[in-house]
Amino acid sequence: MSYTRREIIVNLSYPCYICAAEFGSAKEVIGHIYHVHGYIVDSRPVGRNRPLERKYEFEKKFLGKWDVQRFACPSCWFHCATDIESLTEHIMETHNPPRIEGFVHPVSDGEDDRYELVESSEEENTGNIQVEKAEDEEVVESRQQLGNDIVTALEKLNVTFKRFFS
Ligand SMILES: [Zn+2]
Ligand SMILES: [Zn+2]
Repeated sequence: MSYTRREIIVNLSYPCYICAAEFGSAKEVIGHIYHVHGYIVDSRPVGRNRPLERKYEFEKKFLGKWDVQRFACPSCWFHCATDIESLTEHIMETHNPPRIEGFVHPVSDGEDDRYELVESSEEENTGNIQVEKAEDEEVVESRQQLGNDIVTALEKLNVTFKRFFS
């Protein structure tokens, strides 16, 4: 009886342990968790390769040749079956990522963000300084103003955002 010993070729996927969105690399998921959820996930030590495993070989490319996909931890060499709960449990128990202090969600969906919008349009009252316009021009004008207000609000959010991280 003969058999050829062969490692299982694994393609690693890096899902977000909070929302389960999948990414192709540790770097991408760490960035996603930082910017979208406000948690700091440590990266693996720089310049070290994944240690060899007796049972597995790894194929980095999703389009490459592999047998099975597994979920990987972006902070260490842990990987598990494609079950998000196992990964979440590992990350919480082993790494327990700290939350960014005063994190503001970048997508405007909260009360705080609406408040920012109102505040900024009061401060930047450029609309009232405008000289009288013909009626047909007014529509365009207010649309531009609305656009400007949104840009101003976004810029302010951006500044607020940066302040927390500098
Ligand atoms: Zn996520
Ligand atoms: Zn880990």
